[in-house]
Amino acid sequence: MKFGTKLLHGGNSIEKETGAVTLPIYQSSTFHQFDIDNFGEYDYARSGNPTRNLLERDFAKLEGGNYAFAFSSGIAAICSVISIFSAGDHLVVASDVYGGTYRAITKLFNKFNIEFTFVDASNIKEIENVIKSNTKAIYLETPSNPLLKITDLNCVISIAKKNKIITIVDNTFMSPYLQRPLELGADIVVHSATKFIGGHSDVIAGFAVTKDKNIADEIYKIQNSFGAILSPQDCYLISRGLKTLKVRMEESQKNALTLANWLNNQDIVEEVYYPGLEDHRDKEIHDKQSFGPGAVLSFKFKTLEQTKYFLNNVENVVVAVSLGAVETIVSYPAKMSHAAIPKENREKMGVTDTLIRVSLGIEDIEDLIEGFKKGFRN
Ligand SMILES: *Cc1c(COP(=O)(O)O)cnc(C)c1O
Repeated sequence: MKFGTKLLHGGNSIEKETGAVTLPIYQSSTFHQFDIDNFGEYDYARSGNPTRNLLERDFAKLEGGNYAFAFSSGIAAICSVISIFSAGDHLVVASDVYGGTYRAITKLFNKFNIEFTFVDASNIKEIENVIKSNTKAIYLETPSNPLLKITDLNCVISIAKKNKIITIVDNTFMSPYLQRPLELGADIVVHSATKFIGGHSDVIAGFAVTKDKNIADEIYKIQNSFGAILSPQDCYLISRGLKTLKVRMEESQKNALTLANWLNNQDIVEEVYYPGLEDHRDKEIHDKQSFGPGAVLSFKFKTLEQTKYFLNNVENVVVAVSLGAVETIVSYPAKMSHAAIPKENREKMGVTDTLIRVSLGIEDIEDLIEGFKKGFRN
């Protein structure tokens, strides 16, 4: 079954009893036990809820995994996955990870003596050089945020396997429609389902997915112990959003490609970052490991004045934190997603005060370009 069909007919979510076509919402925190010696499948909804479990089963299949866990946010999924490691373990982390992930690692997990080394993950040598005897995992995002740098997944995964360490990929920017790292041999995929998976700027959610039973048991233990579960109502919204993932991604990606090429021809724009552009440094690697360039791009203005003017005057978009929605979202990484990273480190990473990130929605591209022109002042 192909992916678009799988989104609608690949799952378990048709209820046998009633034939309901949409995911039933079991708004129940606890479950009656008919036999005190043999508990039913469900007892308490933090440990398991039928709505959540159906969504998890469906999502695992979409991502090419066997086990998925739905969390109350992307960062809850990420922190729960990092929590499977122990004091004394060492993790190699891409230096341009999502700002919230960077904050969790440097301000929270460092308190528990989990050791981290940040590397430029697009440079394989740099990864190899920092692997130590206590290294347990490599954590990365590709394309990276917000500069859309590419990491060669096959390469990293083979280094990881050689060293008996696991690979964790945050697949938020691509969604399982455009990239499935587990199928390439990654061990865990995490998602902010708030973004393309939900797709409508109406719910905060996250996923962790794996093929491996032992890893799944560890993640389940954290999900149940820490309790950052996704509520039944929010599971429903994610299930509803997922049905249109393919059509949304296709439209948004088409808009991204057109806008990236248009921006590339504007004098006011210094540089455009998008793996769909022919001149993107690692386009070939990205094409090899994904099914499309996605719907997020970034670009730089020449001056701070132009940047500020744009943010205050661009039309037909929303200027906001977040990405991956039906509406085009323009964001300002320096003051939004990357505000938690000290200015000096941030600038060194290339996240300057003139950088704008755009997550394309499904508007008509002519109106988006008109709206962008309103924000341009030479
Ligand atoms: C938004 C985002 C997160 C965090 O997810 P939340 O749902 O906001 O908690 C993690 N990784 C990436 C790449 C993101 O864009």
